Amino acid sequence: MTVITSSLLEEGRFLHGFGTRLTTRNDLPSPIHILLQVHGGRIVCLGEQMMQIQDPRSRIQDINPNLVTREVPEEPFRFDEGDSLMTSLPGISLGIRTADCLPVLLADPASNTVAAVHCGWRSLAQGLAENTVEAMASLTGSTPSGFLAALGPAINVCCYEVGLEVIRQFQENNIGPAPYAMRGGRYFLNLRAVAGSQLVKAGLLQEHIDDLNQCTACQPELFNSHRARRDEGRMVSFIRARD
Ligand SMILES: [Zn+2]
Repeated sequence: MTVITSSLLEEGRFLHGFGTRLTTRNDLPSPIHILLQVHGGRIVCLGEQMMQIQDPRSRIQDINPNLVTREVPEEPFRFDEGDSLMTSLPGISLGIRTADCLPVLLADPASNTVAAVHCGWRSLAQGLAENTVEAMASLTGSTPSGFLAALGPAINVCCYEVGLEVIRQFQENNIGPAPYAMRGGRYFLNLRAVAGSQLVKAGLLQEHIDDLNQCTACQPELFNSHRARRDEGRMVSFIRARD
């Protein structure tokens, strides 16, 4: 098993996968547009028609100031910088690279739009999961209750120790709850619960969120973990609109 899939996204007939440390480039679809994270709230949309699905007059910056559009890349394998990647183009896969941060794959079956979201704590503290759903809804005119989401392998609450300042950052940004566990006076952040609550707040139904609940730090044979083992490798997760 070199790529992990979500039964929910499979039922929706979206080509997708969460890479592992065993994944090679041959396991990835081509062409693929891969995002290099910038630890913020930057949402990159591929394809000009994304702006025109709902209302050609609407300006994209009015929806979210951190949202940028890109032309369709000509190179088959290309990198870009941001935290979320979205498209309704069927011809290209979206990819994100993680090694502890939470990869979230989103799909709107109604408009055939997909997104790959790189959820580190800094991005989530800026509301990235919620903002990506809102941007997708605004751009497509779809209702988020029809959206599907899958949460891939990430460092779990069993292993993700953070400083109190991380918990406080969520409170200061007034971004909603930052669920954590306390053990021996130490704080352990629950990235899955943070992302899940943002998705629900943005309008997704709980039964449309498939949490694969695998911990990258606990399974060295399968996953890279930057925090647990200082792994340099990154795992690629991808999703593609239906052909
Ligand atoms: Zn763990």
